[in-house]
Amino acid sequence: MHELTVVSNIFKIILATAEENKLSKISKINLKVGKQRHLAPDLMKFAFDSISGNTIAAGAELEIERVDITMECRSCSHVFTVEDNTYMCISCGSALLKTLSGKDLLIESIEGEV
Ligand SMILES: [Zn+2]
Repeated sequence: MHELTVVSNIFKIILATAEENKLSKISKINLKVGKQRHLAPDLMKFAFDSISGNTIAAGAELEIERVDITMECRSCSHVFTVEDNTYMCISCGSALLKTLSGKDLLIESIEGEV
């Protein structure tokens, strides 16, 4: 399961950040995940619940915001959002594109108690 690997990597960062900020309990984690990462939020939450079991993040809520895939056309500079995995400029039909967003994987914030 790809999600498990990704979530365990994120989880290490979350715990380190919580430690730095002297949190005794983590209640909520806000993540931003680009749609191009092909990560299923349900599987990420499932992986998170199984990893966080005996830690200060046990029972914490994992909030996942999905970030749209936006591309800029290299031919006509048109910027658009990719729908239904159609990677083609909607203005001129070119397939020469630059990714502007959609690959994101960010921990936006961690909420907890000191
Ligand atoms: Zn174009």
